[in-house]
Amino acid sequence: MIVSLLTYTPEAERIVATAARLCYAAVDVKALEQRYASDDDRRMISKVLAIGHHGVLEHAVFSFAAEGVSRALTHQLVRHRLASFAQQSQRYVAFDGGFDYEMPPSIAAQPELATRFDDEMRRLADLYADLREAGIAAEDARFVLPNASHSRLIMTMNARELRHFFRLRCCRRSQWEIRALATKMLKEVIKVAPALFQKAGPGCLAGACPEGAMSCGAAAEVRREFADLV
Ligand SMILES: Cc1cc2nc3c(=O)[nH]c(=O)nc-3n(C[C@H](O)[C@H](O)[C@H](O)COP(=O)(O)OP(=O)(O)OC[C@H]3O[C@@H](n4cnc5c(N)ncnc54)[C@H](O)[C@@H]3O)c2cc1C
Repeated sequence: MIVSLLTYTPEAERIVATAARLCYAAVDVKALEQRYASDDDRRMISKVLAIGHHGVLEHAVFSFAAEGVSRALTHQLVRHRLASFAQQSQRYVAFDGGFDYEMPPSIAAQPELATRFDDEMRRLADLYADLREAGIAAEDARFVLPNASHSRLIMTMNARELRHFFRLRCCRRSQWEIRALATKMLKEVIKVAPALFQKAGPGCLAGACPEGAMSCGAAAEVRREFADLV
């Protein structure tokens, strides 16, 4: 899996802090922008996060590329409706030379099953090639491509949606591959906007585990994992 932060709102923390101040200030925007240092911005963002004035976080957006991820992952990812996505098409892109795929570590750990898994992928690639040779369009041949097949996409989320996404998808209840993706994304945004993503991560970073009876029961360990993230 390759995850990269492609681009993001310049001065992301400044725009969020300015938007927050504007709500409560009698002065014009120019005055607001000139009056404050980055430390003030960070303090304002902490305040906004604490009081739940999260709408202002939407003024900062972050665009990522993800490659070498399974369709099983991307199907979960695109459920996040407030994000924007562009995903490689299986209609316009034909996989006549075969397709790359993801093998779950649980299967890779069992050599006999791993071999059978690889064999099955090869059989599917052969069938795909036969269908294409028989004149079947890529949009129909793709029906034999598995959840494991690799995809690539570009996605854009604002900071509010990202914090929500991390809460759900960095959690150990989340599926391992999307959890790995979310954790890599979190590492990237913490580097460029640490105040915006302070205490971002699974729900248990903010207090008791919100998963109730479904909890992994390892909140302390998870908190340690995310404390050492960057
Ligand atoms: C551990 C786990 C297991 C899951 N298992 C399943 C499963 O078995 N089956 C399944 O179908 N899905 C499953 N999901 C997906 C889940 O139900 C959500 O579709 C997905 O996580 C997107 O979350 P969201 O709707 O909060 O996020 P987003 O779509 O990113 O939306 C963010 C927030 O915006 C608000 N919002 C967005 N759209 C609307 C709207 N139309 N109306 C009102 N408010 C809105 C909500 O507050 C929402 O939380 C699972 C997710 C997780 C993390």
